[in-house]
Amino acid sequence: MPYFGAIGRSRIVDCAVQCPRCASRSKQRGQNRGMPRSPATANSSPTKPAADAKSAPQRALDKLGLSRDVDLALHLPLRYEDETRVIRIVDLRDGDSAQVEGVIHDCQVHAQGRRQLVARLRDASGELVLRFIHFYPSHLKNLAAGQRLRVRGEVRGGFFGREMVHPTFRSVTDETPLAKALTPVYPSNAALPQAYLRKAIATALQRVDLAEIVPDDLLPGGLPSLKQSLQQLHHPAPEVSPSLLEDRTQPAWQRLKFDELLAQQISQAQARRARALQRAPRFEAKRGGLQEHLLPALPFELTPAQRRVIEEIGADLARRAEGDAEQSVPMHRLLQGDVGSGKTVVAALVAALVMAQGWQCALMAPTEILAEQHFRKLVGWLEPLGIQVAWLTGSRKGKIRQRMLEAVASGDALLVVGTHAVIQDDVRFAKLGLAIIDEQHRFGVAQRLSLRAKLVDGAATTGLEPHLLMMSATPIPRTLAMTLFADLDISTIDQLPPGRTPVLTKIFSDGRREAVIRTIRDAVADGRQVYWVCPLIEESEHVDLQNATATHDQLKQALPDARIGLLHGRMSSGEKAAVMALFSSGQMALLVSTTVIEVGVDVPNASLMVIEHAERFGLSQLHQLRGRVGRGGVASVCVLLYATPLSDTGKARLKAMAETSDGFEIARRDLEIRGPGEFLGARQSGVPLLRFADLAEDQQLVQQARDVAHALLDRHPDLARQQMARWQNVRADYLKA
Ligand code: ADP
Ligand code: MG
Repeated sequence: MPYFGAIGRSRIVDCAVQCPRCASRSKQRGQNRGMPRSPATANSSPTKPAADAKSAPQRALDKLGLSRDVDLALHLPLRYEDETRVIRIVDLRDGDSAQVEGVIHDCQVHAQGRRQLVARLRDASGELVLRFIHFYPSHLKNLAAGQRLRVRGEVRGGFFGREMVHPTFRSVTDETPLAKALTPVYPSNAALPQAYLRKAIATALQRVDLAEIVPDDLLPGGLPSLKQSLQQLHHPAPEVSPSLLEDRTQPAWQRLKFDELLAQQISQAQARRARALQRAPRFEAKRGGLQEHLLPALPFELTPAQRRVIEEIGADLARRAEGDAEQSVPMHRLLQGDVGSGKTVVAALVAALVMAQGWQCALMAPTEILAEQHFRKLVGWLEPLGIQVAWLTGSRKGKIRQRMLEAVASGDALLVVGTHAVIQDDVRFAKLGLAIIDEQHRFGVAQRLSLRAKLVDGAATTGLEPHLLMMSATPIPRTLAMTLFADLDISTIDQLPPGRTPVLTKIFSDGRREAVIRTIRDAVADGRQVYWVCPLIEESEHVDLQNATATHDQLKQALPDARIGLLHGRMSSGEKAAVMALFSSGQMALLVSTTVIEVGVDVPNASLMVIEHAERFGLSQLHQLRGRVGRGGVASVCVLLYATPLSDTGKARLKAMAETSDGFEIARRDLEIRGPGEFLGARQSGVPLLRFADLAEDQQLVQQARDVAHALLDRHPDLARQQMARWQNVRADYLKA
């Protein structure tokens, strides 16, 4: 994985090349003058902002989380530039990134075609064109004929001969010295010039205390000291080659990765230890309990995998806390099972166990459609057994909501089902024993944190912390389970209920749309039901809607006899529920939808799904969508339509979908493609979870860091705290939520 995970990459740009966009921005703020062009001549002091108004670069530093000296010291170069040498123009090769020095021969604004500035630089060996598509009047002055310049950029063969487009340049004299070491290029953004960042980091590196925290006898052998490693990576010796430095398997990098992983493993181990000290109500399955009544009422037999996970969860709930046999330790368990593996019924049976002893359960789903579907199913199963089920969503307001809240507060409603409305501030549980989160990876960081608050809340009322069961169809790959989710116990349903037929996945270009529509016509004529899923375009609901509406109209014209519905995020929940009801009951043949149907919807008669612009979806998302079909006995088909031209990775991804229906395999490939950030639903945070370590490559370091983390917590808790403080920007904290 590159320096920043998928989340960081989109925001952090390498702005090493001096681009007019940045220049103009800082100019507007009057910051540009006096800005050093290279560290050698740097003379401004970036580290002492005025107390009242922070400078723009200072604010940019804060924004990147670089507030403390140690944060700056741990901000490592993306790559290096070699400014220690000047290359003769004649020796330049296309594609080289190089530095040359020469005198401007002439400089002109070309007006034909695209307006641009073209200067010709000559040294004793030859001539190089410098081309600027964006430029300012100051460029004309700085690039005037006769100016002696040192220029660096990427060489390419252009229309005007060999050239550099938007190179960086500065005027020099015969005596201007060359850089003595490789120049680091840091991840930055447009508001933070490289030169400023370099100076800030160099200053911080001199001041910061980098004393070793981990005692010698615990540090894995072969790792250099942190101080030495940082020195080497920030300011490599001139003879070291950049490619060697960029190779992250070398010792200095290994040391950084180890330290990062160590902080992260300490935080996980700490969370687990803290939990072990907490108390939760203890529940044991009783003969003749609710669970025993519910089982015979189900229309099917549980699969062996379902029985096994129920036992695993049951063992957690029945575990006796050390020194307090009456109580238990809060469960923190993830139930993972592929789409359609039957997690809902497991949740219901576990809830029954808790409710049988008079404690409440909350079941939370990410969308209203899904929450409603759960509600129906659970009401059907549990109300006959005398359990009152309450229903809370964002669209439930006024009197009904008030009544529900009262039933929850009094403890009359033993089961509360809903969206994140279940964890709003005004919801007070009388006796919350178990919280169940369906499709947990779909919840954002903020929601996870308010859930955390609700659990703490529950503990304040009853003196006991509720148990937590999370469910997900997107399995956590082993590497992630060992690192970022080390505080989580995992149960896996590794088997589908009998009688499912695998879904056949076909890939067509959008040019075959007509043929696909004919297939739909046949399916509908056979009494089968069809989903047509429209893509998400740049997260704009508005465009999504236009798109879905247009497709809906097109399909209505092509299939005049079929009843066709439309479902999208802008509809009120009442409207959505009405459409879903028609589709679930089989009255509607074809449902055109944006991705609102993605999670959990269960209509067994639906056996054909078309996904438009499949290339725009993530693999896990496609897998979830595809899981909506193949739920009944009929052979099901999923058609992935893609727009041409399709990139090679796009092709590979769609092919992966056709090749495997195994959610684990898909999750693994998804992780490879997108990095863990996306996976964790941590997108919003914009903070990379691990900056240096690569979960796929650094297994051994993970294991070492884990061992050292436990040793520190056991023997040197103060050192563990110091390590966490040093790396506080690792931000693993919200994963605990
Ligand atoms: P998911 O794990 O994706 O949430 P669901 O809980 O929605 O799956 O279950 C999918 C479908 O399988 C539902 O219609 C459910 O009633 C049914 N189901 C669950 N368990 C079994 C089983 N043991 N045998 C047959 N059908 C089952
Ligand atoms: Mg489900």
